[in-house]
Amino acid sequence: MTEVLIVGAGTGGLSVARQLSKNPDVNITIVEKGVLSDASQAYNYYDVWDKNEMELIKTDVVGGSSLVMAGNLVPSLVDELKEYGIDITPQLKQLREELQIDTMPKTHEGKITRLLHDASSRLGLEMQDMPKAINPSKCKQCGKCAWGCPHGAKWSSLEDLKVAQKNGAKLITDEEVTGLIVEDNKIRGIKTDKAKQYHADVVVLAAGGMKTPKLLRTVGIKAGETFSVDPFITVGGYYKGAMQDHEIQMNKYIKLPYIVISPHTSQFLLPKIRKTHPDATVDDIISLMIKIPDNLKGHVYQNEVVKGIDFEDAALLARGAAIAGSILTEAGADIESISSTHVRGAHLIASARIGEIVDSNLETEIENLYVADGSVLPEAPGLPPIYTILALSRRLGQYLADKL
Ligand SMILES: Cc1cc2nc3c(=O)[nH]c(=O)nc-3n(C[C@H](O)[C@H](O)[C@H](O)COP(=O)(O)OP(=O)(O)OC[C@H]3O[C@@H](n4cnc5c(N)ncnc54)[C@H](O)[C@@H]3O)c2cc1C
Repeated sequence: MTEVLIVGAGTGGLSVARQLSKNPDVNITIVEKGVLSDASQAYNYYDVWDKNEMELIKTDVVGGSSLVMAGNLVPSLVDELKEYGIDITPQLKQLREELQIDTMPKTHEGKITRLLHDASSRLGLEMQDMPKAINPSKCKQCGKCAWGCPHGAKWSSLEDLKVAQKNGAKLITDEEVTGLIVEDNKIRGIKTDKAKQYHADVVVLAAGGMKTPKLLRTVGIKAGETFSVDPFITVGGYYKGAMQDHEIQMNKYIKLPYIVISPHTSQFLLPKIRKTHPDATVDDIISLMIKIPDNLKGHVYQNEVVKGIDFEDAALLARGAAIAGSILTEAGADIESISSTHVRGAHLIASARIGEIVDSNLETEIENLYVADGSVLPEAPGLPPIYTILALSRRLGQYLADKL
């Protein structure tokens, strides 16, 4: 039997586990820092990095950030990956069927989403339907995707866990991997915060774009010299009784060069809106998210993360904000109330890039040490990355299943 350790039971890690577990000659153990929780409680496990007006968001829990994602499944970086000899189209097709990715039916289109769609059209902007991994028959349109879906309607990586466990994979929770064991440039195992060591023939790092590079640095691999996050802001204003927070978030989107604009409610806008409308509540917010692909200028060092936005990022966000402001006022928002949140990032990526830190099989320079999470993306897509992370990880799972 070949022993395989997967570090992190998140999006990438569980996708590898699911595919690899089809090989009966492999023993899989997944070691996860977080606990196993019901998806509806995922909001309790947010771990936010917050510095210099920039906030980076992830969840440390079994299932990782897949539990709180908005359910947007858009292929990204497909052509860029071909330049590295990687074709993920078979995995994208497999995932489309497994996750039943589709746009939501008209019955699930919120009032404000429709209003913003129509306002965009009048301004000559096409707002298209977002492909989602949400089961419409279970979805109650509560707007709580980012809290963890309370109705079990949204797909999450817990589905991959179920399959992997059924095929014999073991899950260890509440145990943080702190180091790697390497001998003669070959991976031999991992060390954890419980002062334990686990030995294996193959290790797959899937601790996410902000943790995997730190683990790689413990064995001398200079990951984390790059780091992107697809920064976003939410721009919004006052619209009496909008109730946008009770609609499916990001159910439609406008795709412009380097800018994505999508209906999305942020409670951070409320104190700003109250400057012009003191009685406003969350239900009176109408707002749009603006997301851009950033450059690779962030860093993830052993004891420090460095990430800000530069002039180019700021210029793109400002352009997106101006367009969003026009749509919002056209839709009926009070122009004097319109403001923006601070800059946030929820796509923690490109910190152990393909072509730099890992090869096209996602293997590092240390034999049998692989990476399967957002950190391997070669650049920021400025689009939802989870579909591509899942596809790359399924591809690695199949590669290892064949190889072992
Ligand atoms: C609120 C929110 C909404 C989003 N919406 C979307 C969306 O709609 N569409 C989309 O494409 N993307 C979305 N994203 C982004 C997407 O969810 C992430 O890019 C993706 O889930 C990241 O996958 P990953 O495998 O890199 O990391 P994760 O899924 O975060 O997995 C990392 C796992 O490793 C564990 N871990 C960390 N350190 C250790 C350690 N030392 N030892 C053991 N375990 C460890 C963590 O607890 C976690 O379980 C969203 C993100 C957020 C936060």
